Amino acid sequence: AARNPGQPEFLQAVTEVMESLWPFIEKNPKYADNALLERLVEPERIIQFRVSWMDDKGQVQVNRGFRIQHSMAIGPFKGGIRFHPSVNQSVLKFLAFEQTFKNALTTLPMGGGKGGSDFDPKGKSSAEVMRFCQAFVTELYRHVGPDTDVPAGDIGVGGREVGFMAGMYKKLSNSAACVFTGKGLTFGGSLIRPEATGYGTVYFAQEMLATRGQSMAGKTVSVSGSGNVAQYAVEKAMQLGAKVVTVSDSSGTVYDKDGFTAEKLAILMDIKNNKYGRVNDYAAQVPGVEFFAGVRPWNIKVDVALPCATQNELDLADAKALIANGVVCVAEGANMPSTIEAAKAFEAAGVLYAPGKASNAGGVATSGLEMSQNAGRLSWTAEEVDARLLQIMQGIHAACLKYGKRADGTVSYIDGANVAGFVKVAEAMQAQGVI
Ligand code: NDP
Repeated sequence: AARNPGQPEFLQAVTEVMESLWPFIEKNPKYADNALLERLVEPERIIQFRVSWMDDKGQVQVNRGFRIQHSMAIGPFKGGIRFHPSVNQSVLKFLAFEQTFKNALTTLPMGGGKGGSDFDPKGKSSAEVMRFCQAFVTELYRHVGPDTDVPAGDIGVGGREVGFMAGMYKKLSNSAACVFTGKGLTFGGSLIRPEATGYGTVYFAQEMLATRGQSMAGKTVSVSGSGNVAQYAVEKAMQLGAKVVTVSDSSGTVYDKDGFTAEKLAILMDIKNNKYGRVNDYAAQVPGVEFFAGVRPWNIKVDVALPCATQNELDLADAKALIANGVVCVAEGANMPSTIEAAKAFEAAGVLYAPGKASNAGGVATSGLEMSQNAGRLSWTAEEVDARLLQIMQGIHAACLKYGKRADGTVSYIDGANVAGFVKVAEAMQAQGVI
């Protein structure tokens, strides 16, 4: 803590992982040789830079840009770019640290990184977003490359923003190499990449439920957020026969007692993805749904909860409310949406609880598949990518069972994900010497 003052999110992520690893390292001390843990919590490189750009009124705006290159031990740095006013070094360091374990879990050869800016895309024109993205890449381009660091999207960075950044990268580098994933389909993007994180989260939930002889069919589900991850979590949960009763954003929660339909989801996607609107706009347009301003979805009675918005959006009181209402499964689409206390409460109550680094790894896994397709100058069909995604999520679930089984036969997905990810990163680091 003394070496990372003012970085609560980073310390939270490290604490959660170290608490899981400790019993494993006591039994297998070789993994801690050569100051491995001390090296693992230190990013290989942190880049911080000025991003100046001109708004539509001709005023110059100044933002901060970052790229945290956490670990190259098992492949090029890989992780998303986030544009949100809350972005700072602590948030991006926690995300890059988590990403390193998550990417290891996918079994694909990717290291961990994360980047972003405190730029707020809300209320900006598309021209302003483009000028900002171009200014951002004017610095970022010298630090990334297809075998060095391959960024993607995250909060506030979707297909439009990735397109602007990938375009500027080409201009500056005179290279069409794959340095961004999440690209549009016309210039190297992969089918199913937009869907992958949300779909993967639901596939993971389905695997967890199967360990108790259950499935998504007939379950009532709450989803938080209404962005990329949330939208496709809603879609896949519906396809598997569940009733999804909520979505949310920072303005509040929409509650639909009858559940989402494909038609309603299309309206939500249009409002969010084309009009950059809010969930209260959705509630105003769709009859029979309720809108609770400034409220999160966790007091609503459901069988399955899928937090898909942002970090620390589900605290101990929320966890207690979900448990009291009989929740059976919580699978995180977002990164670290549950506080440490909330996650512990789920496990103590016997809820099937998956931390984001396991359940939301389908996004980066499919980014890995996009890199493979680009390198091979190929494009696979949606069915092919989806089948690989499902297989990868099943593999991550199996790894969690292998490393997370407790003496009494129950499973801690927290321990399973942390130990399984750690073993791969640690072995790669030890094999490559003290670097
Ligand atoms: P989007 O920007 O598409 O959507 C983010 C959603 O979360 C929006 O509904 C947004 O609401 C809400 N949100 C963001 N910040 C806050 C906040 N501080 N308080 C309340 N609500 C908030 O992002 P994604 O869907 O891509 O990302 C969502 C989560 O999933 C993040 O934790 C991300 O790291 C994680 N993730 C994403 C992956 C991907 O492939 N995109 C891969 C793996 C994880 P509003 O519009 O009001 O801000």
